[in-house]
Amino acid sequence: MAAKSYEEEHPVKVFGWAATDTSGHLSPFKFSRRETGEKDVQLKVLYCGVCHSDLHQIKNEWGSTTYPIVPGHEIVGVVTEVGSKVEKFKVGDKVGVGTIIGSCRSCENCANDLEVYCDKVLVTYNDTEIVTYGGYSDIMVADEHFVVHWPENLPMEAAPLLCAGITTYSPLRYFGLDKPGMHIGVVGLGGLGHMAVKFAKAFGTKVTVISTSVGKKQEAIERFGVDSFLISHDPKQMQAAVGTLDGIIDTVSVVHPILPLLSLLKTNGKLILVGAIEKPLELPVFPILTGGRKLVGASATGGMKETQEMVNFSAKHNITPDVEIVRMDYVNTALDRLVKNDVKYRFVIDVGKTLNAAT
Ligand code: NAP
Ligand code: ZN
Ligand code: ZN
Repeated sequence: MAAKSYEEEHPVKVFGWAATDTSGHLSPFKFSRRETGEKDVQLKVLYCGVCHSDLHQIKNEWGSTTYPIVPGHEIVGVVTEVGSKVEKFKVGDKVGVGTIIGSCRSCENCANDLEVYCDKVLVTYNDTEIVTYGGYSDIMVADEHFVVHWPENLPMEAAPLLCAGITTYSPLRYFGLDKPGMHIGVVGLGGLGHMAVKFAKAFGTKVTVISTSVGKKQEAIERFGVDSFLISHDPKQMQAAVGTLDGIIDTVSVVHPILPLLSLLKTNGKLILVGAIEKPLELPVFPILTGGRKLVGASATGGMKETQEMVNFSAKHNITPDVEIVRMDYVNTALDRLVKNDVKYRFVIDVGKTLNAAT
């Protein structure tokens, strides 16, 4: 029997927006997805966040993009169909899909609920092994293991929890930076950074933001309750804070100096890099040696169990991202504004109401 064509194996017609070259400009794009398999959940996408990783990838800044690319990995929607062996979901459930939609389910990482580190991990869009398309589209399909329940009291617009949320929650927990009384630094008050601030405050830690934007100071203090706000290019402010932090989450998306950040740490403090910077950073060794400081990378988001835990924690503690809801046909402007650091603090596309209107 002849092998089935891509179209035969993917009969479900989908409408989304895609970039077709390194300009990163998105435009309407018709494609298809697989039928709902026995362990699959199909959902109607209602909201999708705009992550800086979307921007890196539509412009091929990581060198791994296959065009056309449909971005979007902060997806919240409603279940429209479930496979015959699906156990956790039913039609009508509110659900979320984040950065991964598959893994081998049998390796050590998968057994330890760290699917995100599996060699066979399948990312939600622009996977390098098979074609995957993300949430800037009307319909998604994923194995139920990679779908989370969306708590009733959590607004669906809070979709950025699914990447910005888990990427900051996970390392704060894993590296023990979640103890009341600790002092945590957050570098870059953007999509990830403002979620790091919210979780750190919820854990009862003191928070210092280290930022390039003077204009974010008042809001950081008054709205997010940060305890202090340092301008990273002001040596006096940075000097005054040397040796004060137990840990730092660095969310900056471009090459930036590491030494001043290491200096802010106490002995044995941890600098955790979560920004996905495509170029190497200059690493000064002596401050690490002499201060017992740790420089670590995290976290390629987080595993599925922890993602559900984070969503539930957010619902319980009323932690939601600060979002600017935009129409689908505003997405190119939103991406331009993201490049210019002009968003407070995450764009979320109202896919449900505006995708089909935006043709
Ligand atoms: P974002 O909203 O653009 O925030 C980045 C922040 O970095 C900006 O708000 C800005 O904060 C600061 N910044 C911007 N330009 C800077 C510069 N030239 N020098 C110093 N600071 C600068 O981006 P995001 O969505 O939070 O993502 C941040 C990074 O994390 C991206 O590289 C993204 O790909 C990556 N990421 C990684 C993972 C993972 O799994 N590890 C997951 C998601 C995203 P201030 O205005 O306060 O300076
Ligand atoms: Zn992301
Ligand atoms: Zn695995």
